[in-house]
Amino acid sequence: MIEDLYVAGMVRNRHLARSISDAAMGELSRQILYKAKWHGVEVRVTNRFFPSSKTCSGCGDVKTDLDLSTRTYSCGTCGLAIDRDLNAAINLARWRPKEPSAVPLLALTRAALLSTA
Ligand SMILES: [Zn+2]
Repeated sequence: MIEDLYVAGMVRNRHLARSISDAAMGELSRQILYKAKWHGVEVRVTNRFFPSSKTCSGCGDVKTDLDLSTRTYSCGTCGLAIDRDLNAAINLARWRPKEPSAVPLLALTRAALLSTA
């Protein structure tokens, strides 16, 4: 349903902002959005198909499968072994939207944003 959701833009829309807040987001999510807005940072949710966890932050190789219980990302191509969440965070930090942002950007996966609800 939601692809490349522009949260910052939606938060500017009071009606949508209230829907998001009421329906999907908890206190921590609201805090993230509030603080980001306060500091002039745009929050964008990546395309749901962006493989932040399955992509090697060392060489860019993408795994077809990565079990949720696997906490260390081990790359069969370049040999990188790295904490799963750190690997995903690096990939998210490097992620750039098709339309460049004029302000600093915080990219989150939809799952990451909703898991803070
Ligand atoms: Zn690799």
